[in-house]
Amino acid sequence: MVSGFLQLLVQRHNERLDKEAHEYIGFAVDGAARMRALIHDLLGYSRVARHGKPAAPTSAEATLDEVLLHLGTAIAESGGEVTHDPLPTVVVDETQLMQLLQNLIGNAVKFRGKVPPRIHVSAKRNGSEWVFSVRDNGIGIDPQHFGRIFQIFQRLHNRDEYAGTGIGLAVCKKIVERHGGRIWVESQPGNGSTFHFTLPAAKEKTQ
Ligand code: ADP
Repeated sequence: MVSGFLQLLVQRHNERLDKEAHEYIGFAVDGAARMRALIHDLLGYSRVARHGKPAAPTSAEATLDEVLLHLGTAIAESGGEVTHDPLPTVVVDETQLMQLLQNLIGNAVKFRGKVPPRIHVSAKRNGSEWVFSVRDNGIGIDPQHFGRIFQIFQRLHNRDEYAGTGIGLAVCKKIVERHGGRIWVESQPGNGSTFHFTLPAAKEKTQ
C-alpha cells in the first residue's frame, strides 16, 4: 500500500514534483521494499518453531534438486555452478530442509568473489547423524565473526554492498537445532566458506 500510493503520486502529479521530490519518493519506495523484506523474513523466523511439521524420512538429494530449481535464475545470472555428492535420507521437516539449503546456497551465490561461484554440497555419516557441508569459493568470513553471523540481524556488510536482512543464518540455526543438530562455519577471508550442519540419519531397515 505504501509503495502503491507513492507510485500513484508519481503517476498523477508527475509535473508538479521536482527532482528533489522524486528523490525523496525513491527513498520512501526503497524503505517500503526493505520493510516488506524484513517482515517477510521475520515471519519466516518466527514460524520455524510454531509451524514446523513433524520430521519424516526425506531424500536430501531430491530436496536439493528442488532448491536448485528455485535458485536457477540467480545461479545462472552469477555464472555459477552447484555440484553435489550423493546425498542421504535424513529425518527432517522437508520444507525446513529446503529453506536451510536455499539460505546457504543463496548466500554462497550472493557473497561470491570476483570469480563465478563454485558451490559443492556433500554429506558424511557420523554415528546416528549426517554432517552436511556447503562449500563455496566466495569472499569468505573473518573467524572473529563466526559466532555473530548466526545471530538475528547480524550482518558483516551494509545494504549497498549486499542486499539482505541478516535473518537467513538465524533461521538456519533455528531449523538445525529444532532437529537436534548443530551448525557452524569454517572460512578464511578471500578463501571461500564451508557451512557444516548435522541432521539425524534415517534408521536402517532391519528385516
Ligand atoms: P544476510 O544474507 O541477509 O546478510 P544472513 O543471516 O544470511 O543474512 O548472513 C549473515 C552474514 O553472514 C552476511 O551478512 C554475511 O556477512 C555473512 N555470510 C553468510 N553467508 C556467507 C557466505 N557464504 N560467504 C561469506 N559471508 C557470508
